[in-house]
Amino acid sequence: MTPPIPPAVSRRHPGVFRALCAVLIVIASVPRGICDPAAKDAKAEAKLPVLTVPVRVHLVQSKATPAMQTTMTDSDVRRIFGKVNMVWAQAGVHFQIESIVRTEAAVLSPEMEKKDEFVRVHAMIPKASLAATALNVCYVKEVKPNGFFHNGLIVVKDTASLRAVEGGIDEPLPRVTSHEIGHALSLSHRQDRTNLMASGTTGFSLNDAEIQAARGVAAKFQQSKAAGAAQADSSK
Ligand SMILES: [Zn+2]
Repeated sequence: MTPPIPPAVSRRHPGVFRALCAVLIVIASVPRGICDPAAKDAKAEAKLPVLTVPVRVHLVQSKATPAMQTTMTDSDVRRIFGKVNMVWAQAGVHFQIESIVRTEAAVLSPEMEKKDEFVRVHAMIPKASLAATALNVCYVKEVKPNGFFHNGLIVVKDTASLRAVEGGIDEPLPRVTSHEIGHALSLSHRQDRTNLMASGTTGFSLNDAEIQAARGVAAKFQQSKAAGAAQADSSK
C-alpha cells in the first residue's frame, strides 16, 4: 500500500501532488516480468502440491563436430534452471538438477550422417550417459530448430533466439528449455502468442488443461525416482 499524501502537501503544492500521482500511476502500470520476485501468477497462488522432477543436464562436447560442442558452463545451467523453475512454478512442478555432466558426442557412421536432424543428433548422444529416472536435457551449439524433444531426449542449442512478446521472459535459453520440457511432459504446440507452447516466442504461460496434463507426467517421474531410491536402499 502507498502512504496517503498529506492533505497539506496536496493543498499547498498542487504541482508536487500531481507529479507524485503520476509517478505512482507509472509504478503501478509497469508490467511485471519473470525476474520480478514479486510477480506471482494467480495459478501459482492456488498452491498446487509441488512435484519434483530430477534432471540430468548434458553439456555436450565434441572436437569432431563443432555444432555439437556447447560453450555453456555449470553456472549458466544453474541460472537457466532457476528461471525454468520460475516458469514451471505456475504448474507446481520443480526441476531438480541431479547432475551436470560433460557428455562426449559419438562420431556417426556415414550412413547415420545422412539421417534427418533429430535422428542424427539423438544418435550422437551415448545412451549409457542418460539417466533412466530423470529428464535428460542436452545442450549443443547448433541444430536447425532452437531445440527439440525426440524419443525421450531434450536437445537445446545454446545459440537459440526467440521473438519477444509482451510479458515474455528476458532470455531465450530458459524459455526454450521450458518449452521442450513441456513437450517431454506430453504438451503439444498451441500457437497463442504469449504462452509457453507457442513456437519461437518468449511467452511462458500455461492454461489449466496444460497444467493438469504436464503434472500427470511429472508425477510419474517423481514416482519412478522414489521407486529407484527404494530399490537402491534395499540393495544395500
Ligand atoms: Zn515445440
